[in-house]
Amino acid sequence: MEKSNGLRVVLFPLPIQGCINPMFQLAKILHSRGFSITVIHTRFNTPKASNHPLYTFLEIQDGLSEAEASTRDVTLVLTLLNQSCCRGWIRPSPKARRIDGPIRISKALRAPAPFPLRISFPCNRRNAFPTINKTSLLNPRLKPNVSLFSTVSRSNSCEAPFRDCLTKLLQSETEERKQTISCLIDDSGWIFTQHLAQSLNLSRFVLSTYKVSFFVGHFVLPKLRRERYLQPQGSSIACSEQDEPAEEFPPLRKKDLLRILDEETEVLDSYSDMILETTKASSGLVFVSSCEELDEDSLRQARREFQVPIFAIGPSHSYFPGSSSSLFTPDQTCIQWLDKQEDKTVIYVSFGSVVNISETELLEISWGLRNSDQPFLWVVRVGMVNGTKWIEAIPEKGKIVKWAPQQDVLKHRATGGFLTHNGWNSTVESVCEGVPMICVPSVWDQLLNARFVSDVWMVGLHLRSREW
Ligand code: UDP
Repeated sequence: MEKSNGLRVVLFPLPIQGCINPMFQLAKILHSRGFSITVIHTRFNTPKASNHPLYTFLEIQDGLSEAEASTRDVTLVLTLLNQSCCRGWIRPSPKARRIDGPIRISKALRAPAPFPLRISFPCNRRNAFPTINKTSLLNPRLKPNVSLFSTVSRSNSCEAPFRDCLTKLLQSETEERKQTISCLIDDSGWIFTQHLAQSLNLSRFVLSTYKVSFFVGHFVLPKLRRERYLQPQGSSIACSEQDEPAEEFPPLRKKDLLRILDEETEVLDSYSDMILETTKASSGLVFVSSCEELDEDSLRQARREFQVPIFAIGPSHSYFPGSSSSLFTPDQTCIQWLDKQEDKTVIYVSFGSVVNISETELLEISWGLRNSDQPFLWVVRVGMVNGTKWIEAIPEKGKIVKWAPQQDVLKHRATGGFLTHNGWNSTVESVCEGVPMICVPSVWDQLLNARFVSDVWMVGLHLRSREW
């Protein structure tokens, strides 16, 4: 770490693995530039403080009961929290006074990264793509499900405790006169923090864990949905048109856009509007898992539309062990298992930290993998299969783990392909390691990420069925 610069940054990640990882990558970058780090976090999905002895961790209440907070069934928790929505939203007042802290932050983020950045597109590895027996995986019912309302609900239940915590921090800063809190950096999904930061005269930077294209593009969805409701025939489009490009949101196809619009998203519409407003009112926007090379056009668009400084400083994951911010304990035995496999033969299967599937879907994937006749490493989280605690039958040629050290798996010479839900972190990690993907996007931004993979960068294939 550089000598301390006397400034402290307060971070507030959304309690979801895919949002926690990028936040800790950002923490590490800022810490390496001399900033002290305080992480405010919910009780639900608490990050492991012991992995970060140099940071200060402050837990806040999140409104969940003991039983709810201790469950590993994220979907269940999110569904419970779904009951409260966006009520009580307060419009942000004009921008807060800029103070020295954010300027220092801007400099830290603008300066060359402390680590060499590298992206390798896996075009030269396409021939090494393992042969999957696709027909065996074709099943229109194979649709993982996930609740989309987590962040909206959590925002409401955390507001008062977060305000108290931040206010106390600022008070102790004044009393002790030791360190200046330069700014708050939190996830774009926290919609109450902008107003709060302004009222405390603290600058707020927004971290987006989406691909820039999705972050910028998804604000059009509420308008599209309204227009669609006005159409006499509602949503339906002819089969022949389904594969056509969706001009309103490239590179999605019409069928992808319909799937996104069909999600139960009236709540998400007003949520998106709030994210737009609060981001525009912020002091800056940071994308830690993207860069100019991956998102040049969208970054140009973002800089036009948001009149705040925008930093795309990633991908930075490969310089930090993913396990350090992992909510689950990675099963390291899969690396020894991979060591015994031949080069580029193993198909790695993971649907990230939130997507759930049914038992039927699980069986369908099992058969597909078995019939592919390739060795496979498959992450089946506890509670991931609806209605089943754990799976007994492990198909031959495969290894099943509850959580994998994903970055190490993707780096491993034996890994030849990735059957993925296309969460943005997983997508970037795979692109950076040159591992081709079989895309099984489930919801929301995953559909866009998957289109980039298959149609724009051509580093993967969509698993085709009536729905995909
Ligand atoms: N991950 C992991 N081990 C696993 C599965 C996932 O370490 O067995 C990590 C993965 O490397 C990624 C994150 O969890 O950084 C998942 O984020 P992503 O955006 O891909 O999906 P989400 O969980 O948000 O749907």
